[in-house]
Amino acid sequence: MTRKLLDDCFLHDKDRLRHNEVLTILRDRLTAIAGDEYVSLDDALGRIAAEDVRAPRNVPAYDNSAVDGYAVRHADLNDNAPTTLFVAMRVAAGHPAREPLPAASAARIFTGAMMPAGADTVVMQEDCDAGESDEIEDLKQVTIPIGLKPGANRRRAGEDLAEGATLIDPGQVFRPQDVAAAASVGRGSVRCFKKLKVAVYSSGDELVEAGGTLGQGGVFDSNRPLLKALLQTLPVEVVDLGILADKAGTVRDALKQAAETADVVITSGGASRGEEDHLIESLEALGKRHLWQIAIKPGRPMAMGQIGDTPIFGLPGNPVAAFVCFLLYVRPALFKLGGALWFEPRRFTLPAAFEIEKKKADRREFYRGLLVPGPDGLTADKFSRDGSGLISGLRAADGLIEIPEAATSISRGEPVAFIPFGELGL
Ligand code: AMP
Ligand code: MG
Repeated sequence: MTRKLLDDCFLHDKDRLRHNEVLTILRDRLTAIAGDEYVSLDDALGRIAAEDVRAPRNVPAYDNSAVDGYAVRHADLNDNAPTTLFVAMRVAAGHPAREPLPAASAARIFTGAMMPAGADTVVMQEDCDAGESDEIEDLKQVTIPIGLKPGANRRRAGEDLAEGATLIDPGQVFRPQDVAAAASVGRGSVRCFKKLKVAVYSSGDELVEAGGTLGQGGVFDSNRPLLKALLQTLPVEVVDLGILADKAGTVRDALKQAAETADVVITSGGASRGEEDHLIESLEALGKRHLWQIAIKPGRPMAMGQIGDTPIFGLPGNPVAAFVCFLLYVRPALFKLGGALWFEPRRFTLPAAFEIEKKKADRREFYRGLLVPGPDGLTADKFSRDGSGLISGLRAADGLIEIPEAATSISRGEPVAFIPFGELGL
């Protein structure tokens, strides 16, 4: 199952990449590098299917009652007057009738119980008059009103899933409802791609582990906790490699070791071409390296590389840029490497509750977007401050507002694309 990556999967010949060009490279060049394994249904949530899960039988397996009531043959009912039938049997869920329904009689039936042979229609108990017969002792009878349609309140075998139907395709991610569907066809386990081992580290001499003491010039490392939390929304296993100093040898050794032990490595900070940024030269020494200039805001260059078969994603150090670049690029890349189908977050169109006088053309901009009620429904507003170090903006936001390359301004009320965080797994 495991396939090798291309020798240099992040190679390209452009000075600057547009957002869609980045996605195309990731979609087309990355392949599943994970093996597969059987996973108990209890652990399948969020995992990526490695098989097509089919229904080996109908669901429901047999016609059954949708309500508590009385099962009858519709042909036994009068057209113009209520019908009184004697109650010949009682069928509860899990206790099918042993015999067919006798002619001109009803079966007391409960929700989910198998329809007795011969019965085709169920009348809800609330609509019936049930009682004892006046003439014959111990004889239960039921009076059914007119107007019942043939087949009413009967669930048909296979109406949920027909025998042979595919319910999950390879590459699909299990949601709670998919787990339910797999269980409904009797699967106790499903074949899934193994979780990728993803190593994460932060780099910067100024960084201090949260919980530690902040000296002068120090900054608490918030990217690594952020990335680890983001990774927890994915079917991966996180390997925490801590904080690396801005030292060429340190970065190179750590990267080499990470590439040997993990399937993917994600770093933040130190990924530009500054003197204190050592990721690029380390990658150069160890494998393939590229510094992608992506025409987006918030965007710094992203370092993309590969040591053997281990892809390396070097995210910008600024928390907002790290967050956005992770969600836009690293997240879909990890899904693809992990065996999932490629999928794009859906955009919703909302009127802008803000305006932008001047926007640079040829650059796609992503703002922290807030859903704000307006007189005609929801509108999209942007977080008031633009700084790419502001975690406050990420917290205030409900999603990302996406302004396409071609736009050079946005006026209030103009439709804009909104990507709810739910579309990005948050
Ligand atoms: P760099 O990409 O290393 O030049 O860092 C850009 C900015 O992001 C600097 O202000 C860094 O202090 C900040 N930064 C880098 N890494 C982190 C981190 N792990 N947590 C918080 N801030 C960071
Ligand atoms: Mg730095």
